[in-house]
Amino acid sequence: MSVRATAQAGILMIAAMMLVVWPAAAPAQQPPATPHAPFTIANHSVAPGQRLDVDLHVAAGPSDPATRVLVTVFHGVRPGPVLGLTAGVHGYEFAPILAAQRLLDVIDSMQLTGTVLLVRLANVAAFEERVPYVNPHDRKNLNRAFPGRADGTQTERIAWALTTEVVRRSDVLVELHSGDGAEWLEEFVGVYGGPLAARYDTARAVGLAFGLRNVIRYSMDTQQQIDSGRSLNRQAVADGKPTVLVEIGENGRRDTAFVEPIVNGVMNALRVLAMVDGAAQPARPDTRWFDSTASVSATATGIFTPAAARGYEVQKGGRVGTVRDYSGRVVEELVSPVNGYAIYGLAGPPVKAGESVVTIAVPAKEPF
Ligand SMILES: [Zn+2]
Repeated sequence: MSVRATAQAGILMIAAMMLVVWPAAAPAQQPPATPHAPFTIANHSVAPGQRLDVDLHVAAGPSDPATRVLVTVFHGVRPGPVLGLTAGVHGYEFAPILAAQRLLDVIDSMQLTGTVLLVRLANVAAFEERVPYVNPHDRKNLNRAFPGRADGTQTERIAWALTTEVVRRSDVLVELHSGDGAEWLEEFVGVYGGPLAARYDTARAVGLAFGLRNVIRYSMDTQQQIDSGRSLNRQAVADGKPTVLVEIGENGRRDTAFVEPIVNGVMNALRVLAMVDGAAQPARPDTRWFDSTASVSATATGIFTPAAARGYEVQKGGRVGTVRDYSGRVVEELVSPVNGYAIYGLAGPPVKAGESVVTIAVPAKEPF
């Protein structure tokens, strides 16, 4: 087992947590909280109404050092679902990482039904070394390494810790991403559906809670889709969890305009799941529904210029970008294989042969 607890625990325990009133001692005029079990994680026990910051220790491997996955458990005063929220799988995607920091001040265990398992930062080395896409020790993409393994490289060991301590402990999983360091992105939510995904209705409701205009349904039709280069999301699908991908932010930016919608969306998702009180904001009326995506890859290495660095409609055969060699000659004009909406892509200028330069979302025939 590569995961064990470190001693850092409960450092920000709120004073009020000490005042959890159990039924036997509750004044008659106050409805007592239903007693329920502590939440245990990596040998720590989190009492109802308590928040605990935990470092999931990831032991050193044969070729690279130990690391940790930074998690906060908010264990509510009433029993309910476990919502897993994961930020920082890609360490250069700053909006979700900063949103996770904000959520520390916004989610209140004393007001919570169920439990929130918040991964504040999954890929510490990538964050600290400012490395997009991959982990600096093994150059692997954590979001292609699931379920991971206890005795693998650092990326694989982090994946294994997330699989065992977060994904499999959650009832609903929301993955928070941005466009990476060299990517533009128009915000969207991805909802996992299809025959191999569990409880699409729950995932859909949680996804729509983020209030984003663009919604993509990823249909999980074959086991190969789930297994090849398995992402954290597809791990959650494999483990039978309703699964949502949230993508807000781009290009290593940390603007409030990207951070705030994540925080607000999480809180609205908690209302949708009845984990906090209050009426959930309804889904927006102008949602655009997409039910598949197509990507375009460069076949040449060089200097890439995207047709646009924000969302845009494109027709089949329409230009999505140009690759020039280092002498400035055009070596490739890239075009869309479909009619759709270019929703994220490579900002450039570097591009390597084989890399995807744009992802085009294909509109659904009807809302779903
Ligand atoms: Zn990402």
